[in-house]
Amino acid sequence: MTNRISGIGVSPGRVVGPAFRMVEAVSEPDAAAILAPSEREAEAARIAPAAARVAEELTARARRASGEAKDVLDATALMASDPALADAARAAVLDHGKTAPRAVWEAAEDVARTLTAAGGYLAERARDVRDVRDRIIAALDGTQAPGIPTHPEPFVLVARDLAPADTATLDAEAVLALVTEEGGPTSHTAILARALGLPAVVAARGITDLRDGTPVLVDGTDSVVVPDPAPDVPGDAPPAALPGPFAGHGQTSDGFPVALLANVGDPRSTSAAVDVGAEGIGLFRTEFCFLDRTEPPSFDEQVTAYRSVFSQFPERKVVVRTLDAGADKPLPFLTAQGEPNPALGVRGLRTARHTPSLLDDQLRAISAAALGTDAEVWVMAPMVATAIEAAAFAERARAHDLRTVGVMVEVPSAAVTADAVVAACDFVSIGTNDLAQYTLAADRQLGELAELTDPWQPALLQLVELIGAAGRRAGKPVGVCGEAASDPLLAAVLVGLGVTSLSMSARAIPAVAASLAAVSYDDCQHLARIAVEATDPADARRRARAALGT
Ligand code: PEP
Ligand code: MG
Repeated sequence: MTNRISGIGVSPGRVVGPAFRMVEAVSEPDAAAILAPSEREAEAARIAPAAARVAEELTARARRASGEAKDVLDATALMASDPALADAARAAVLDHGKTAPRAVWEAAEDVARTLTAAGGYLAERARDVRDVRDRIIAALDGTQAPGIPTHPEPFVLVARDLAPADTATLDAEAVLALVTEEGGPTSHTAILARALGLPAVVAARGITDLRDGTPVLVDGTDSVVVPDPAPDVPGDAPPAALPGPFAGHGQTSDGFPVALLANVGDPRSTSAAVDVGAEGIGLFRTEFCFLDRTEPPSFDEQVTAYRSVFSQFPERKVVVRTLDAGADKPLPFLTAQGEPNPALGVRGLRTARHTPSLLDDQLRAISAAALGTDAEVWVMAPMVATAIEAAAFAERARAHDLRTVGVMVEVPSAAVTADAVVAACDFVSIGTNDLAQYTLAADRQLGELAELTDPWQPALLQLVELIGAAGRRAGKPVGVCGEAASDPLLAAVLVGLGVTSLSMSARAIPAVAASLAAVSYDDCQHLARIAVEATDPADARRRARAALGT
């Protein structure tokens, strides 16, 4: 078979290797199967050893891992070894004749439901419980644990899409390249691949139909995957060594400072930001404390949650974004039901039109949390469309004693009127994920339109240029906190367009730091011109790479 599969190359390089798909989640075991009383004791006895095997395997992997991956593996191992789950499942086999897999399924579902009802941070643990559940069931069935497959030889990992929880534990030594059926340039897969220096192609339609073990050529530079390539097709030499740890300050080779900050959304991503040595937080997505709840968290709960992040960044900047509910982040108590077009509806700052008290409570809680720590707390609003909205938000935040107030620029109208928006507040931060979505009129969640929301789109970069120029004129900071900031080559382009700080998922920081350290500020400006004047994203990337001789 020589059908080429086109996609979007999100991390350059060419490799050849066998493709293996992510192992799918286990399916729900049959609830109707009931064991005879004589079979139950033996069936129940299988559960504890299976759970112990899972815990052992996860602990062994945790020992070999570090940082965020180690935290994830340790937490999951602890859950697998918790006797409460195995005991509840054992009782369901003995008392009700459930099969062992079914009993584990039901016991885990009970725990997951309780966690979800508790809301907030605990609700997120429901996903981990289900992960442990699936692993124990796979151990009982003698099949591969769901998630990233294990193979003795390095392989190309193929998946429908990769979620943060899937990839936190990915072993970069075992995987040659990443290819996904869905996802786009801002997807988690793209960020991870660049951070690990692995070639990657996303939005590769049909890739998950390949048989496991099929040899493939993955070309992240030319955005294509070739199954069964001719035997003499060479891959690149193995990638150069991964960038070393981040040394503390982002800057170009001639010393132009570019603060490299982290995007965080929950305690786990915050500790990853600390581990990597981020210069601060450029986007604190506060939604995590509101998700999976039927009513807003109390003032005290908010203060505690915000302070837990602030206290980890003493003397450093933490940019808190007020609640961005709606569209891709719906909240039951705030998001209007039945809007014909939620992405264009009452979302982000607009929710304060009908529920102003929620924004005021949040600003009050941010201010109170800031008082108790040494973090330099900045605050900004999402989905601001006009300079009047920016000025009104700034006034409101200052009334709560928040001194440094900014807005996100993620709606084209705010970019086009950048001078007025910048004048209305202390700083701006460009949300390239939404700015791309609204500029190209393409839903950021649709893999099918991913080439339109590519952050290298010249139209998007021209808007970034307008905002960068407005910031320079006013002498005010202009950050980028969309995923564009995590693309090492694009980072240099953004700096050339006038961006003064970049905020991204923590694991992307070392590669971006290394890329900026290799170019001068003049190079950045040259790359910016090339990218803005390109005809399309592929052309922009190609010409930028050629200019650097890479
Ligand atoms: C963005 O839109 O680029 C952004 C950073 O915000 P979010 O992804 O949370 O919408
Ligand atoms: Mg946004």
